Amino acid sequence: MRDLGAEPTLQGIFSTNRRPLMVSANTDFGYDSKIEGGVIVSRADAAINWIRTNSMWPMPMGLACCAIELMAVGGARFDIARFGAEVMRFSPRQADCMIVAGTVTYKMAPQVRRIYDQMAAPKWVIAMGACASSGGMYRSYATLQGVDRIVPVDVYVSGCPPRPEALLDALMKLQDKVRREPSARRLLSA
Ligand code: SF4
Repeated sequence: MRDLGAEPTLQGIFSTNRRPLMVSANTDFGYDSKIEGGVIVSRADAAINWIRTNSMWPMPMGLACCAIELMAVGGARFDIARFGAEVMRFSPRQADCMIVAGTVTYKMAPQVRRIYDQMAAPKWVIAMGACASSGGMYRSYATLQGVDRIVPVDVYVSGCPPRPEALLDALMKLQDKVRREPSARRLLSA
């Protein structure tokens, strides 16, 4: 019978006088009690990307019906806070992930681009739904045929409308992308 009362504590896992109880295949962080003592070794890229992936502040660019699904991810049922992205900012200077949710008209396009330009780097864009990704069903003179004509899109979400889970999936894909970015090199060469 397994002893359920013997769960390892954080202090036990990282204690300096014995080997770690948990072994991880994660190469971003290294720890060996015999070599490093109480020090965890990592790469600058891993540390920077870890911070960035878990603190994305969205710029909610709700332009049509998809915005309702965008609002739903903030509720308890979908709970975008699990990904550290619940802080919707309506100031572009405090946001780093623009979520374009809805139909982008030619009239609105310059404003979308201006808000994108006002966001501080690094910044990312999610095109949510068929309209934002490709113009959707609106093959008309008034509709931009995809927001990627005015801003660089990192992740596209299909559907009309996409479900809130699809947006969370896109957010996780964006986090995976950010984890692979050479952030330290870009910071030093900027
Ligand atoms: S993709 Fe569908 S739900 Fe989303 S903005 Fe376009 S028409 Fe509305």
